[in-house]
Formats: sequence, C-alpha cells, structure tokens
Amino acid sequence: MARISKAYRLKLYPNRVQKAALARYAGACRWLWNHLLAMQQERYGAEKKFIFRFEMQKLLPGLKKEFPWLAEAPVHSLQRVCRNLHLALKGCFRNGKGFPRFKKKGVSRESFYVSNDTLRVEENRIVLPKLGPVKFRCGPVPEGKLMGATVSFDGRSWWCTVQCEQEAEVHQVAPEAETVVGIDLGLKDLITTSDGQRVKAPKNLRKAQKRLRRAQRMLARRRKGSANRRKQAARVAAVHRKVRDRRRDLQHKTTAALVGRASAVVTEDPNIRGMIKNRRLAMSFADAGWGEMLRQVAYKCEWAGKAHVMAGRFEPSTQTCSSCGTRKTGEEKLSLQQRTYRCGNCGLEMDRDLNAALNLRRLGLAALGLEDVGQAMPELAGEIRLPADACGDASAGEAASAASRYVSRKQESSDQPQMTDSQYANRSAGAHSHDDMRRTAERDAFHDSAFAGFQPAWI
Ligand SMILES: [Zn+2]
Repeated sequence: MARISKAYRLKLYPNRVQKAALARYAGACRWLWNHLLAMQQERYGAEKKFIFRFEMQKLLPGLKKEFPWLAEAPVHSLQRVCRNLHLALKGCFRNGKGFPRFKKKGVSRESFYVSNDTLRVEENRIVLPKLGPVKFRCGPVPEGKLMGATVSFDGRSWWCTVQCEQEAEVHQVAPEAETVVGIDLGLKDLITTSDGQRVKAPKNLRKAQKRLRRAQRMLARRRKGSANRRKQAARVAAVHRKVRDRRRDLQHKTTAALVGRASAVVTEDPNIRGMIKNRRLAMSFADAGWGEMLRQVAYKCEWAGKAHVMAGRFEPSTQTCSSCGTRKTGEEKLSLQQRTYRCGNCGLEMDRDLNAALNLRRLGLAALGLEDVGQAMPELAGEIRLPADACGDASAGEAASAASRYVSRKQESSDQPQMTDSQYANRSAGAHSHDDMRRTAERDAFHDSAFAGFQPAWI
C-alpha cells in the first residue's frame, strides 16, 4: 500500500445566502493580499526587508479590529493568504517570477483556501467553514483523508478543489525498452513522441484562443468605468473560461493516453524557473501549458507505477543529433524558428521536435539501464478526442496507485560526459571568454521563456 494524493474538482451549487458569503470570503482574502502586499512593498522600499509568514499572521487580530468585516472570513483562509504571500515573496527572487501582483476585483481569480479540520463530505454536500453544507454535482466523490480545499469562482460558477490523501494498491510496471517513450513539448504541435506521433492543439481550442485575444483587445479600447467596458469584461471572462476548460480537458486526455500506452516516460524537467522575457513567445508557451502537462505526466506515472525519467536542466535535447550524438554549439545552434535539425556530421535531417524526443528517449533508456531495441508503441491516434464534456480531473480519477520510481535527473550519456547542474553553474560563474558568457545568456533566455507557463498549484 502506498499513499497518494488526489484532487477532486467539484462544482458547487450554493444557495443565495451561501453564494453571497462565498463572494465575501473571497473578497476578504483578496483585500488582505493587497493590503499585506502594499505594506510589504512600503517596508521593502524603506528597509530593504520583508516580514515573513508568521509575522504577517500576527497582524491579523489587529486588522480584524480595524476592519470588523474581515473577521467574517474563516481564519485559516486568511492565514493561508499570509502563507501564499510569503511564498510568492520568497519565490520572486529565487525563481525569477517577478514581484507578486495586486489582485484586481473581477480580473484576478476569486478564491480562498479551506483547511482540513473544518472540511467534511456528506453524500452530495460538502461542509465548508461558517457556511454549512453546500451541494455539489454528483460525480466522483472525494475519498480518503481530506487535506484541504480551494474554493474559487470562474465568473459563472463556484468550484471546490479538494485535496485528498488515499491509501492505494501499488502495481509497479517494469520498464521495457520497446515501450519507453520520449516526449517533447513544442509550440507548433502540443507534443511530439519519440515514435513519431503528434498531438496538435485542436482547432476549436485555437479558434477560442483567437476569439479571446480579440475580446481582450476590444476590452482595452473601452473607456474605464463605462457600462460597455463592464459588458465586454464579462464577455472576456466567458471566452477565457471556455479556453481554460478546453485546454484542461485536452491536457488530461493527452497525458492520460501517453502514460497509459508507455511502460516508462521521459520528459524534460518541469522545475525550471520561468520568467517572461519575450512576451510574444511567452504567450504561446503559456497557451501550450507545458508546465501543467509535465506535472500531470509526473503524477499520472506515479499513480500507474511507471517510471518517469526527467532529463536534467542542461541536457541540450534540441541541439544534439539523435543519430550520432554530435552537439551543436555557438553559431550553429538551432534557433526557435528553425524547424528542421540538420546534422553536419552524419547528415541526418529530421524534424526538430522528433529529434529532441528521440534524444530524451535515449537519455531515459540510459538512466533505466536498458538496451535500445527500437520502439513498438501502441498507436496514440484516436485516443485523444475532444468531446464537449470537459470535466477536469475525471480522467485522472480512474486508475490510480503509486510510489514513483524517479530516476536521478543527472544522467551519464554514452557519447559525451554530461555536466551536473552545479558543475554547469560553476562553469558559468567562471566563464572567461565572451563567447561562453553569451552562450550562457542565450541558454538562460531560452529556458526562461520556455517554462513561463509553469505555475505552482495554489495560484
Ligand atoms: Zn549526426
């Protein structure tokens, strides 16, 4: 038996009184975030210092006296705001995400956290603090130990994402070389697998994304505070919701199908700092939702008892020839626009994404200690369809069981000695030649933009 954590996304059906209360709690949390953030900003300006989580929590009683309506929100929800702000402030320097932003009413997602001690599920009702039982849509009912929940509003409905911990039977799958698959996440195609299959973003998602951009442009032209602006904002929110739902559905179906047909999956490491440098590029990366896909692959592998190998941060999977192992450096390096990999050494000509997926697979085989005997993957085609029933975590709800077999992400390649991250960092720090420094900067810029879509779960 192993312990796995699972999330259930429930659609809430609050009554009128509950609806108003939910909005007030979320509003109180938004206000608190903005209030504390403004305070932190001021403090940082004056003393170059932040106050951290528990000091922020100590301010709560005073604030509640000053603003009595704040006391109406559940105490754990307010404490969670302190924690989230603490993490955001800490993270803004470490992973370069930038300074936390103020939450705007009607623009930022309205949400608040609910701790486990006040949470209970009774048939088709979930008991929330200070609210009592709230109805939710029947579907998979949360099981196991409830760890906490986030209640949020998507512009139309209230949702409750419940985190549960469950005991589950583990069925470990032994990786077989034939069904080890490398997955490259791209811009043009959503994913490319090492056996040459592709998943494209479906037309209706791309159309909705276009519609969203158009709606946003129109919103920007409307005068602030006008009735037309308010109407347009509601339209933007509706398109946004549609895009999000479709994307979520596609991501779950894709990752479930990928993990289902492989005995081991090799991907890039999602834990790479994300900073939006090139806005246009970052936009399309964020649309592709790489970080979320990688996160899903990781936990779905865990539940299915399959190995998931993550290639190290500095594995140049796009720059290496999958046939002879030659690595492009300096001027030769493939830019993001170049779609074909041409090897100067062995003459290989191949789609860049497929080449990268093959490299990832090779790394995975080495990490798992398997001989390459070619691939015999079951077809992916036909498995991923996009019906209208976009229902979030449903695909994740079925099969489950755990204890992952993470293989070290620092692998030895058979062709060239690979540097570990710290070695690379040392080298970068001591880079002497101008060329070296430029190359480092280029690589960082690529990684920064590549993982701009990665967001921690609580945002
Ligand atoms: Zn080659």
